Amino acid sequence: MDDAQPILALDVDGVISLFGFEGPLAEVPGRFHLIDGMAHCIPDGIGERIGRLADHYDMVWATGWEDRANDRLLEILGLPGELPFLTFDGNARFGSAHWKIAAIDRYAGERPLAWVDDCIDETCQAWAVQRSAPTLLVSTEPDRGLTDSHVDALLSWVRAGYTA
Ligand SMILES: [Mg+2]
Repeated sequence: MDDAQPILALDVDGVISLFGFEGPLAEVPGRFHLIDGMAHCIPDGIGERIGRLADHYDMVWATGWEDRANDRLLEILGLPGELPFLTFDGNARFGSAHWKIAAIDRYAGERPLAWVDDCIDETCQAWAVQRSAPTLLVSTEPDRGLTDSHVDALLSWVRAGYTA
């Protein structure tokens, strides 16, 4: 881990694996991949987006998938190797994110941190405000996931010395 780089805590469901989209199946926003017996819709181009972030951030999985995020996703996204992952002691709950805070806080310590998640809520925002190190929360829409504009915002934040 390069301490000079900020940390990027990366969620999977609603960021990389999309859900909640409507309309005909022909118009789904990505391709379906079978992972652990479940079909996950993963948008085209997201591997390239994450690759752009990997040049400027030390990434860590912050997802209820925990270590399983290092199985099929690496190949699907074209990531060169396993990423570190956070664990949540059985507290993971689909549809919320506050249970990730303690593990992210421990992992990030005093380092600058960006956190991308589809379930950022007031608890997450309150935690971010009281951190002493620069902190950027990026909320995604679960049916669109991580977009180019999110990536642009994440890269500008680093380039601008952690000011939005
Ligand atoms: Mg999520």
